[in-house]
Amino acid sequence: MSGKQAGKQPKSFDVIVIGSGPAGYVAAIRCAQLGFSTACIEQSGSASGKPLLGGTCLNVGCIPSKALLDSSHKFHELREHFASHGIRHGNASGGPSIDVAAMMSRKDQVVGQLTQGVAGLFRSNGVTAISGKGSLLAPDRVRVVDGAGETGELAAKHVILATGSEPMTIAPAPVDQQLIVDSTGALQFDAVPKRLGIIGAGVIGLELGSVWARLGSEVTILEALDDFLPALDRQIAREALKIMGRQGLDIKLGAKVTASKCSKRGKNPVSVTFEDSAGTQQAAFDRLIVAVGRRSVSKGLADPGAGLAIDSRGFVEVDEFCATKLPGVYAVGDLVRGPMLAHKGMEEGVMVAERLAGKKTQVNYELVPFVIYTHPEIAWVGKTEEQLRQEGVECVTGSFPFAASGRALAAHDSEGLVKLVVEKATDRIAGCQIIGASAADLLQQIVIAMEFAASAEDLALTMFSHPALSEVVHEAALAARGHAIHKANRKPR
Ligand code: FAD
Ligand code: AMP
Repeated sequence: MSGKQAGKQPKSFDVIVIGSGPAGYVAAIRCAQLGFSTACIEQSGSASGKPLLGGTCLNVGCIPSKALLDSSHKFHELREHFASHGIRHGNASGGPSIDVAAMMSRKDQVVGQLTQGVAGLFRSNGVTAISGKGSLLAPDRVRVVDGAGETGELAAKHVILATGSEPMTIAPAPVDQQLIVDSTGALQFDAVPKRLGIIGAGVIGLELGSVWARLGSEVTILEALDDFLPALDRQIAREALKIMGRQGLDIKLGAKVTASKCSKRGKNPVSVTFEDSAGTQQAAFDRLIVAVGRRSVSKGLADPGAGLAIDSRGFVEVDEFCATKLPGVYAVGDLVRGPMLAHKGMEEGVMVAERLAGKKTQVNYELVPFVIYTHPEIAWVGKTEEQLRQEGVECVTGSFPFAASGRALAAHDSEGLVKLVVEKATDRIAGCQIIGASAADLLQQIVIAMEFAASAEDLALTMFSHPALSEVVHEAALAARGHAIHKANRKPR
C-alpha cells in the first residue's frame, strides 16, 4: 500500500471487505460474482508478505481442530476398537504410537491447502486481496496500514466489516502460549501433555479435550456453571456427559477457576485454584488450555468520527440484514450478534452481497445448526422440548437410539440417540437434537426438512436407504407418531 499522496484520489472499489474469515471471504467472492469491483483487506500476513486468508476458521479454528480431531480419532480407533473388527496392528513392543510432529504437519498441510484455495478463488473471481490492517474512516472511506506501517486510503461505495473474534482471556489464568495456552496454542502442542487442564466445558474446550484425551492425556475440564452445555436438550446433555466421562474426560461442573501459578521447574508446571461446592480446591497440570469463549474484534475498527455503533458486549450493531446505521456499511460474522459459527457468518456474507445487488435474500436465524465435533458428534437445530413447553406450545418427541441401527452396530459406532421435537397441533418439526456418529450430517436432513416446513409425517413417509445411519432420523419421525418399527414405542399417538 503506497502512502496517500496529496491531491490524489484514493483507489476506489464498489465494495471493500475488512477481514478474510469465512464471513468476509464469502462476502467478497459473492460480491465479485455479482459484478461489483471488490477488495478484501486482511491483516494476517504470510511469510511471503501476501495476506494470509481464511481467518480464524481456516487458520486456527474449525479446520485445524477438525484435522486433529480426525487424526486423534483414527489413533483411538486403532488402539481401542480395531481389534474387535479382527484387525491386529500389534508389534513386539505393544500398541500403536503417535507421532505428534507428523500429525501437526498434516494439519498444517490441510490448512495451507485451504487458505491457498481461498487465494485462488479470489484470483478466479477477480477479488483484490490487500495486505494490511483496515479501519473505517467514513462510510465510504477505509484506511489501510500495511506491515511496514505505511498508511493508505481506499474509497468504496459499500464497506463490509468482517473482523471476526479472538479468544477471551481471564485474569486468573493469563495465557503465555507455553504452559497456559488459548485454543490457538492448543492446536500446536509439540507433545502429548500427561495432565491437561482445560478451563471451560463449551464447544472448544470439549473438542480440544477430546483430541488430547484420545492421544493419552489425562484431561480435567473445570467449568464454572453447574449445568453441562446449558443450550442443549437436557436428555442429550446428560447422555453427552456420560459418554465423555467414559472416554476419560473428567468434567468438573460448578468449578470456577480463581487463580493459577506457573513454574517451569518442578513437578507441577501449572497449579490451578478453583472454587466448587466443597470449597477451595487445587489441581496440578502439565499444560492448561483457557477455553472460556470468544469476543468480537471491534476495538479500533472505526475512527471515533465515523459514528459506528458498538454495543456493550463489543458487537457492531446491525439489523436483521446486517446493515449498520451508517449508509452503505454492513457487518457480518463473529463481529455481530448471534452464534459465533462459520456457517452463520458465511450466510450473512452472501445475504449482504445479494442485497447490495438488489435481491431480497435473508438469513433464517431460526435454523442455525450447531455442532460439537466430539465423538460421537452432538448436533442440534431449532427448539428443544423444554423451550417449546416454556413458550406454552404443546409438543411430542420422537427418539431413536443408534444402538437399534443396523448400520451403527455394523460400524461399531452405536452410542447416542436422535430426538425430534414436533409441534403437537400442526405436526410441524420444531427442532432436533442428535448425539451419535455423523450427527452433523444427519442433522442437515432435518435442517432442510425444517426449511421446507416439513411435518413429522413428511419425514415418516419418506423412503430412506437401508442400511444407512440416516434411518435413525426416519425412525425418530416414526416414533414421534408412535409407530417406530425398530424399537418399542412409548404409546400410540
Ligand atoms: P474470523 O474467522 O475471525 O476472521 C476475521 C479475519 O479478520 C481474521 O483473519 C483477522 O485477521 C482479520 N482482521 C481482524 N481485524 C482486521 C483489520 N482491522 N483489518 C484487516 N483484517 C482484520 N465454527 C464453526 O462453524 N464450526 C466449527 O467447527 C468451528 N470450530 C472452531 C474451533 C476453534 C478452535 C475456534 C477458535 C473456532 C471455531 N469455530 C467454528 C468458530 C469459527 O472459527 C468462527 O465463527 C469464524 O471463523 C468466524 O468467521 P468471521 O469471518 O466472522 O471471523
Ligand atoms: P463457550 O463460551 O461455549 O466457549 O464456553 C466457555 C465456558 O467457560 C463457559 O461455559 C463458562 O462458564 C466457562 N468459564 C468461564 N470462566 C470460567 C472460570 N473462571 N472457571 C471455569 N469455567 C469458566
